[in-house]
Amino acid sequence: MWAQYKGIQVIGTGDFAHPQWLKELQDKLEPAESGLFKLKDKWAKPLDAQIPTICRGPVRFMLTVEISTIYKRQDKVRKLHQLIFTPSFESARKIQAKLGSIGNIASDGRPILGLDAYDLLKLTLDADTQNLFVPAHIWTPWFSALGSMGGFDSMTDAFGDLTKHIYAVETGLSSDPPMNWRLKQLDDFILISNSDAHSPSKLGREANIFDTDFSYDGIYKALSDKNDKGLVSTLEFSLKKANTILTAIGLVRCAGTPGTRSNIRPLLCLRQARDRGGDEPGRNLADKLEGGKSSVGVPIKISYLCLS
Ligand SMILES: [Zn+2]
Repeated sequence: MWAQYKGIQVIGTGDFAHPQWLKELQDKLEPAESGLFKLKDKWAKPLDAQIPTICRGPVRFMLTVEISTIYKRQDKVRKLHQLIFTPSFESARKIQAKLGSIGNIASDGRPILGLDAYDLLKLTLDADTQNLFVPAHIWTPWFSALGSMGGFDSMTDAFGDLTKHIYAVETGLSSDPPMNWRLKQLDDFILISNSDAHSPSKLGREANIFDTDFSYDGIYKALSDKNDKGLVSTLEFSLKKANTILTAIGLVRCAGTPGTRSNIRPLLCLRQARDRGGDEPGRNLADKLEGGKSSVGVPIKISYLCLS
């Protein structure tokens, strides 16, 4: 319902590694466009009936999960959060089974595992080559790839020879693309922004706006191919600009129906996470002046909004 109120067309399921949640997803969702899922009519109709007609629109789900890894590398404890997007339940089940053999996946929607992030990336790619692995909120001090306390100085330090399989990174609620453009090492990555929502009403506080095929493949291409123009912009949450209140419905609502490429569509991932760090992106790693631009070909237009 919140997705429709806010004009969001694709949301992440979050937590697909959790046994009960995965079961519920399999029970309540059915395939829609390739790699995307929709709520079965039995569940969708009673909800749709409560939505004002002007707000109604298709809502699709993409299978996503956030994993917390805690491990020791080079005598330092590392704590990284990362996102996995997958196009199928088959792949989700493979990942779930593998993670279940490593640690407890039933205690939390975002499991905490004693697993090197490198190995998590490897098993993600092994499950399906179309899976996307995205380092989450990369500046959170304690829980991210570049975090000052639990992270590394570079993606390559964290992911070694597999770094080339990471195409996008999540800037997180506490940073925006210009802050990240100050690091040459991030020029190779597409910058995305997700809502990191704990509750449905927080959906859309950050989001990615796409103009692409309405399918997992379309989104995958937009997030993995720097020459693809599918990712149009990100919506950024800004505490400083909290007076910029948007109702969102008029602003991010898309027109049209799935199946064409001509419409702007917002995508965001509903995820569960507890951390929202205040680390200054670029801390001592920035090597470019403020006001620069990314060398990546994805045009980023930033719209700041505060939806919560
Ligand atoms: Zn997190």
